[in-house]
Amino acid sequence: MTRADVAVVGSGPNGLAAAVTMARAGLTVHVHEQASAVGGGLRGEALFDPEVWHDICAAVHPMAAASAFFREFDLPARGVPLLQPPIAYAHPLDDGTAAFAHRDLEETCDRLGPDGRRWRRLMEPLVRHSAGVTDFLLSGQRSVPRDPAVPLLLGPRVLSHLLRGDGLRTEAARALLTGVAAHAVGRLPSPPSGAIALLLGHLAHATGWPLPRGGSGRIAEALADDLRAHGGVLHTGHRVTDLAELEARVVMLDVTPHGLLELAGDRLPPGYRRALGRFRYGPGAAKVDFLVDEPIPWAAPEVGRAGTVHLGGTRAQTLAAEGATARGETCEEPFVLVVDPAVTDPGRAVGGRRPVWAYAHVPNGDTRDPVPLVTRRIERYAPGFADTVVAARGVPAADYETYNPNYPGGDIGAGAVTLAQSVFRPVPAWNPYRTPLPGVYLCSASTPPGPSVHGMCGHHAARVALRREFHITTTPPLGPGSGAPHTERSGRAP
Ligand SMILES: Cc1cc2nc3c(=O)[nH]c(=O)nc-3n(C[C@H](O)[C@H](O)[C@H](O)COP(=O)(O)OP(=O)(O)OC[C@H]3O[C@@H](n4cnc5c(N)ncnc54)[C@H](O)[C@@H]3O)c2cc1C
Repeated sequence: MTRADVAVVGSGPNGLAAAVTMARAGLTVHVHEQASAVGGGLRGEALFDPEVWHDICAAVHPMAAASAFFREFDLPARGVPLLQPPIAYAHPLDDGTAAFAHRDLEETCDRLGPDGRRWRRLMEPLVRHSAGVTDFLLSGQRSVPRDPAVPLLLGPRVLSHLLRGDGLRTEAARALLTGVAAHAVGRLPSPPSGAIALLLGHLAHATGWPLPRGGSGRIAEALADDLRAHGGVLHTGHRVTDLAELEARVVMLDVTPHGLLELAGDRLPPGYRRALGRFRYGPGAAKVDFLVDEPIPWAAPEVGRAGTVHLGGTRAQTLAAEGATARGETCEEPFVLVVDPAVTDPGRAVGGRRPVWAYAHVPNGDTRDPVPLVTRRIERYAPGFADTVVAARGVPAADYETYNPNYPGGDIGAGAVTLAQSVFRPVPAWNPYRTPLPGVYLCSASTPPGPSVHGMCGHHAARVALRREFHITTTPPLGPGSGAPHTERSGRAP
């Protein structure tokens, strides 16, 4: 194998974002992926019907629509339109009613009745400062926000999330926001769940919660195409088990601390090894892919216009289920997320058949088959759903890491999202991307800003490595039309 400037292990959105950033800086980049296809959490498959595509992991992309990396990379300009569902997310309740987050903030407020003005007070300033809020929360968590309004907006709101249930009073509005906070996958409420509720909550009314036309795999393809166009090489189907296998000056690892320990072993100093060993993984996800022959028959029919549906019941029920799951207790009525991609992207339904994507929050390492559990949860809010199911495949949380080693015990966040691990991710260090090994960097969701498809862990790590290892201090352009990379070599490491 030819010696490259950079070897990237893992081709999830962060590995590919790191690879693209570094290839755009004029370096030779080789990506090594253990699976037969690139993409990590972006991969899809025709599971049951050759024409119906299922997103195996990520399906909905509020972060890819908003992150600085993807804003500049510009998916729509590369032929990957981000389609907006009529309603960003919905939260059905037991009485047959439901709460809705429309893209339009005013419509959302109008329909939230007495809580409408409180929702507006919570979200409207965040929407006005959306780029600043997003860039700060998706930063490496080590910088001062560029928009000075951001700490003043976030501080009191996170506090109110912890102490006063976000100041909302009606069951519908409280449940609606708690469903978003539950994306933190852990005990609720918490400072990270507050930040996530505010980030994702306001994005619904800003850049939206879109789905890429054709499925998440299209995002991976666009990244891989750009990488190849800049001289990058992708190797698939081989799991790297030792850093010594890699012929490169710099190594970027889209792996968890567990993965780093496996790859580097005794070469890491004992103190750092112990710190990595203290890294905690969060609850698991148990995924079900259904093939159905009808749209989901929601009791509240308007739920069928939502891109994402949260099944958690009332705020109190969601808090109880998430708390039990975080404590490792199995729960018969767990929090479940459901997406019928064809609602947003009608092309995903072929010949009357459509995919339904769903997963439940369960304890880490849970071995239960999620098909009955998730089917029961959907039936509760959509009686008759089971009769529409043509085929189903469940992946217990315990099995997820066979598919992707970055999800230990089914933890799809590649590490628990706690207050300490939001900042000290993966270890307490000023620069979380560097490792003690010369030229070896971590760039996965186990580094700040953490999980989701935003590419920012990879992009931040790449910028650090460009500066330290190659003395390239100017971030290369990422846009589709940008020409030859314009970079400066400063001749000194910071
Ligand atoms: C069921 C599920 C649903 C999700 N839904 C959403 C969603 O709707 N929206 C959203 O934004 N996010 C979602 N996520 C989370 C999102 O997919 C992840 O946060 C994101 O993919 C993390 O990116 P990454 O690059 O850090 O790691 P990953 O995407 O996990 O990629 C890591 C890659 O590294 C490879 N790898 C690891 N070790 C090695 C090795 N030793 N050798 C070679 N290759 C290796 C793996 O095979 C994998 O391809 C979901 C995840 C799951 C599992």
